[in-house]
Amino acid sequence: MAKKNTPTNNVGNNKPTDPKKPSTMGQKPTSRFNPMYVYGILLIAIFAIQYFTSGGNPVETSWQEVKNTMLKNGDVEKIVVVNKSQSDIFLKEASYEKYKSKFTQGFSAPAKIGPHFFFTIGSIDVFEKNLESAQAEFGENAKVTLTYEIRHDYFSEILSWLFFPLLLLAVWFYIFRRMSKGGGSGGNIFNVGKSQAKIFDKESRVSTTFKEVAGLAEAKQEIEEIVEFLKNPERYTKLGGKIPKGALLVGPPGTGKTLLAKAVAGEADVPFFSMSGSDFVEMFVGVGASRVRDLFKQAKEKSPCIVFIDEIDAIGRARGRNPNMGSNDERENTLNQLLTEMDGFDTNSGVIILGATNRADILDRALMRAGRFDRQIHVELPDVVDRKEIFMVHLRPLTLSDDVNVGFLAKQTPGFSGADIANVCNEAALIAARKKKTKVEKQDFLDAVDRIVGGLEKKNKIITAEEKAIIAYHEAGHATVSWLLEHAHPLVKVTIVPRGKALGAAWYLPEERQITTKYQMLDEVCATLGGRAAEELIFNKISSGAQNDLEKVTKTAYSMVCVYGMSEKVGNVSYYDSSGQSDYSFSKPYSEKTAELIDAEIKELISVSFVRAKDILRKNKKGHKELAELLLEREVIFTEDLEKIFGVRPWGKKKEDEEQPIEKVKPTPKKTSKKDAEIAPEA
Ligand code: ADP
Ligand code: ZN
Repeated sequence: MAKKNTPTNNVGNNKPTDPKKPSTMGQKPTSRFNPMYVYGILLIAIFAIQYFTSGGNPVETSWQEVKNTMLKNGDVEKIVVVNKSQSDIFLKEASYEKYKSKFTQGFSAPAKIGPHFFFTIGSIDVFEKNLESAQAEFGENAKVTLTYEIRHDYFSEILSWLFFPLLLLAVWFYIFRRMSKGGGSGGNIFNVGKSQAKIFDKESRVSTTFKEVAGLAEAKQEIEEIVEFLKNPERYTKLGGKIPKGALLVGPPGTGKTLLAKAVAGEADVPFFSMSGSDFVEMFVGVGASRVRDLFKQAKEKSPCIVFIDEIDAIGRARGRNPNMGSNDERENTLNQLLTEMDGFDTNSGVIILGATNRADILDRALMRAGRFDRQIHVELPDVVDRKEIFMVHLRPLTLSDDVNVGFLAKQTPGFSGADIANVCNEAALIAARKKKTKVEKQDFLDAVDRIVGGLEKKNKIITAEEKAIIAYHEAGHATVSWLLEHAHPLVKVTIVPRGKALGAAWYLPEERQITTKYQMLDEVCATLGGRAAEELIFNKISSGAQNDLEKVTKTAYSMVCVYGMSEKVGNVSYYDSSGQSDYSFSKPYSEKTAELIDAEIKELISVSFVRAKDILRKNKKGHKELAELLLEREVIFTEDLEKIFGVRPWGKKKEDEEQPIEKVKPTPKKTSKKDAEIAPEA
């Protein structure tokens, strides 16, 4: 892996200590000045002063004793009332010796000048009255000077003032240290606003090339142009053209966006800054904006270079969508800073920004306008041909047995992203190794696919015989209905081995189609309801196992009515907001009456499909039963078994030929195509 290099280390923070380095070489760095020592010395000094200046402490006594002994005998010189709450007694010099025995009680004997005794008084008025009456009683003897004093205990007062600010400061330090950990040298608070971009430059060069990126032909073509810009900017600027500032890679996760960006850097041989959108976001105001500024500053220093911001939707989400949420302010500031920076640098400065997101629809429009991310490059899920190429890239390092056919693997993995395929290859190798094989075989790949789609096999999940029968008939119901409907996806495999959370699963081979017709969707709904229909027909009771199916059916029905305008009664309307600009969650864009109509239509659609599924199963009761029994016996059944029971699908064969087009005509990348959930395990 590339070394994590944080260039912020040598900006500023270390400067004060650097000049000292030579003088401390070869010896202990004792000369280094540490402010902590000063605080320590100061504290000790304060305690010392407190201790020495106060001398010994006066001994506690009571008014009774003062009156009946000291005043009576005329031993008291003066009384000082301190802070209205304590009386300090000063003895006459001549009488000091008389009380010496009492002084030893205390921590240390009181100083000769006094005060020698003290007692606490409740109220000054009472004290004065008592004193007056004592003086009246004892006459000349009890004559004392009475003074009042307000004494400040500066030490504890200052301490109580400082306590909370100090506590706050400590907490603040702690948080900043933690925050800046990712950003730099052992957590310096000044690194908080620094960008945390990883850079790959001269020392840790990106070695990814276009060869490692399989498929993605159009994306590659567009991105190759960016490499050209970086390599020969003059060729474009000479003719007066401007080099684009940025390109946005849009596509589902794992389709190779990061890989493409890295390949650009690798091919153009320029430094590559990589950062995730969420790295900008911190709970402190202004940190995100400051990080953006810092990132661009660094990038300009290293120009020409590429700045890659992954998950750019974390900061680039449309502004002002949830105006009530206070937390949005900080993100907006960050986004504004990003926009400013992108406008700010010269087009010919050689910094190209690549952003990646899988949600281009929620991005702020300002981000996408020309002059910022001028280009949008769509990175789609790979089709059969692309998957084959991706497999070839990732199979290269594996030791394969002869029965592994790349075309077959590509066909078995519809809907897989590049990352999934990489995962399949790795998983297959691990499975083969676990079985102590010397080569990775076809079966290992199939197991890996199963595992990735469905999760780990749960062999020890306890299932009763009755439950197992229900699951078998349920899955057989799906298989039967989908096999017999023209537009439903043909089945690849049914299993009743529990995996992950699902108790059984039916996998289909979807056609890779770009638009879906109403008939296809209706058949899909019907096949999905096949499971519950079977339960009702065979056992005359329904189970909770169909929850997943029902959820899927409801979603499909809803989108048929509200998104694709496929309901006659509701009409050709679509309430889907692809721009994501307005929030429909609070106010629906249709009336209550329409809402009722929509509900009724969805219900109607589903119940008609359910009746249809039951019909099909009733008519093919024998086949369904045979299939379920086979499933109970073998736990897994394949296309061939279905062909044996129901015969070859008359329309299925034709599709098979279309499945592998030699030269696939690709849709224009801008068009967002509705793809079905391609491989769909279901409960
Ligand atoms: P994204 O950034 O789109 O989420 P990545 O670029 O991080 O996806 O891809 C993750 C991994 O998937 C890559 O490291 C690579 O191994 C594999 N991968 C994805 N797409 C491809 C592809 N077109 N060709 C080869 N490998 C790919
Ligand atoms: Zn089901």
